[in-house]
Amino acid sequence: MTGKTHAAAGLLVGTAVAMQFELDIFETVTSMVIASIASIFPDICHTQSKIGRKVPLLSWIVKRLFGHRTLTHSILFIAIIYGLLYTIQTPIYYMISIICGMLSHVILDMLTPRGVHLLFPLPIKVRFPIQFKTGGLLDLSLATTFSILTIYILFDEGLRNIIDSLLHGM
Ligand SMILES: [Zn+2]
Repeated sequence: MTGKTHAAAGLLVGTAVAMQFELDIFETVTSMVIASIASIFPDICHTQSKIGRKVPLLSWIVKRLFGHRTLTHSILFIAIIYGLLYTIQTPIYYMISIICGMLSHVILDMLTPRGVHLLFPLPIKVRFPIQFKTGGLLDLSLATTFSILTIYILFDEGLRNIIDSLLHGM
């Protein structure tokens, strides 16, 4: 999947979490931003990815040490991140945004023929029985669908809040 699709999925995750926890506007934006960063973060193992180009040295190191779509696309890595977030006492809604953002990345990559090393360090490639080409029509449609859903959730919730405040104002 392209970085765009991953980021769109992250935004959707962050928005959904914000609505679920009824976060205020500042927390909502934060939740959306960290979820979309988390959703592209696993591709740090890929030097040419969006995130890889931002931190080229770290990206190169991860790639040399583990290879592509291995550690950073595994349950082990997500568990490590969870442990770190837990240690620094991240609020539960940001934690869910980050973990679900990363999960969305791994799940989407499992839909590509290359699959991911989900059970790293076990060298087993895991993928869904149905797969799609990166940059193909489905990749693009997914990005579009995620974006529309995000706008829908924001708009739907925003509208409800306005109606609510109007009703309470009366
Ligand atoms: Zn990936």
